[in-house]
Amino acid sequence: MITRADGARRAELAENLAGLRAQIAAACLAAGRDPAEVTLIAVTKTFPASDVALLADLGVTDIGENRDAEAAGKAAECAALGLSLRWHFIGQLQVNKAASVVSYAYMVHSVDRFRLITALGRRATAAGREVRCLVQLNLAGDLAPAAADAASGAGQGGRGGAPAAEAAGLADAIAAEPGLLLRGVMTVAPLGEDPVPAFSRLREASAQLRARHPQATVISAGMSADLAQAISQGATHVRIGTALLGGRRAFVR
Ligand SMILES: *Cc1c(COP(=O)(O)O)cnc(C)c1O
Repeated sequence: MITRADGARRAELAENLAGLRAQIAAACLAAGRDPAEVTLIAVTKTFPASDVALLADLGVTDIGENRDAEAAGKAAECAALGLSLRWHFIGQLQVNKAASVVSYAYMVHSVDRFRLITALGRRATAAGREVRCLVQLNLAGDLAPAAADAASGAGQGGRGGAPAAEAAGLADAIAAEPGLLLRGVMTVAPLGEDPVPAFSRLREASAQLRARHPQATVISAGMSADLAQAISQGATHVRIGTALLGGRRAFVR
């Protein structure tokens, strides 16, 4: 049953989606790329499963979430509605959440340490699933190695991501892990910096990775504020929340 409120929300999402598709098309045109090379992932964190259902009806079936408890609940609700979706886990991930995440995730974008690789692999194998994985890199330009280490932990202010020097080792470990499929790289642009240098470094890391692992073609980069810059640097997957769903309530972490 579609209520009047659903109809209004559907129209809002449709309008935002049209604007976003136009933005992606313009960025691709400027970069000499085909928009078909860029997958839109709708980041639905803080928004209800009803929004996911409306997005699916509008043709958006790649869905991103950054917290396991929220994602697991929403994935179950959407499965009960009979929706066929691909869930992308994009947030900092604790080892003890690996079993839950592999039960619904199509792709985990935030693989940044060896312990997580073994945990995800063991749980995916036990569940009889294969989970696609991206190596998340922290490519902030002004980070000394020690600061990069601190930022890659789950500590305060950390957005996750391994230093670029660890990319090859992590990728090899994913590729060798039963239950996991290495698919590429991901980054979150550093706050308050021009995102282009970080996205450019991600593109270089991707090229180096593909020389060893030709199947690792995914470059996950770009959010609402920097999607054009990400596309200019080769992003194949953009993760868009605000520009599609609207503002999230501010939260403290
Ligand atoms: C929330 C989030 C996004 C989407 O951010 P917007 O600015 O709302 O588009 C993308 N990637 C990650 C890792 C996120 O946590």
